[in-house]
Amino acid sequence: MTEADPGPRAPVLSVRGLSKTYDRRSAVQALDFDALPGEVLGLVGPNGAGKTTTLRMIAGILVPDAGSVSVGGCDLVREPVAAKRRLALVPDNPQLFEQLTVMEHLDFTARVYGVPAWRGDADRLLAELELADRADSLADELSRGMRQKLALACALLHRPDLLLLDEPLTGLDPRGIRTLFDAVRRRAAEGAAVVLSSHLLGQIEGLCSHVLIVRTGRRVFAGSKEALRDRFPELGPDASLEELFFHATEGPAPAAGAVGG
Ligand code: ATP
Repeated sequence: MTEADPGPRAPVLSVRGLSKTYDRRSAVQALDFDALPGEVLGLVGPNGAGKTTTLRMIAGILVPDAGSVSVGGCDLVREPVAAKRRLALVPDNPQLFEQLTVMEHLDFTARVYGVPAWRGDADRLLAELELADRADSLADELSRGMRQKLALACALLHRPDLLLLDEPLTGLDPRGIRTLFDAVRRRAAEGAAVVLSSHLLGQIEGLCSHVLIVRTGRRVFAGSKEALRDRFPELGPDASLEELFFHATEGPAPAAGAVGG
């Protein structure tokens, strides 16, 4: 008896033709990509390439000029509440409620997202992120790295299918980075898709299964790390993400929608 073919997995995130212009400056141009369950997608590109703008549009914080975003099959415009329930964004500089404690942030998040019996999960998350002894600290009293970890704890509490992390390594100490990576790997293993932007290519290389390279708001490459290496065979099979990145982003900027993975 042959085993049933499960077929292609449905993407958690589908982005099509996403575009944004600020004043007359184009920030994101006709961006297309998917993220599947279990994928950790590294969103990389030079300063001003449009990474934060892209993440903010996917999260529904910024309205695109054109294009569509679908999260777990829910269109962000037609079903905004359903789509947003399935995702969480941790910005690079999280805005917290300075006069709420760490645990009160989790309580608030649980209420907003209607998470039942949240306290056990909150305790586990704080332990996982090494914040258990700061549960009663005000946000105002936390270090920068602790603030990032609290924002991540809030993001994870409602078990999003799609986790968006904007420059998550900034401000974390080496142990904090390892803790973050462990948390990301665990969620990906459970079936979440993770999209994270970073300039620290050497650090994220081992974490990411897939890469989206953008430049001047356009896609230069989207696909697995293996496909990226295949695209530039001249760099050899052991080329680092950093070498591949420089190779892919040198030379003239790509035309809109060019060079898929
Ligand atoms: P970095 O790596 O430096 O964080 P990024 O890839 O995240 O950059 P964005 O912050 O998305 O890039 O910016 C993309 C482009 O949009 C840049 O040219 C930037 O100047 C412009 N931009 C971003 N936010 C605004 C804004 N609020 N008003 C006007 N222009 C903006």
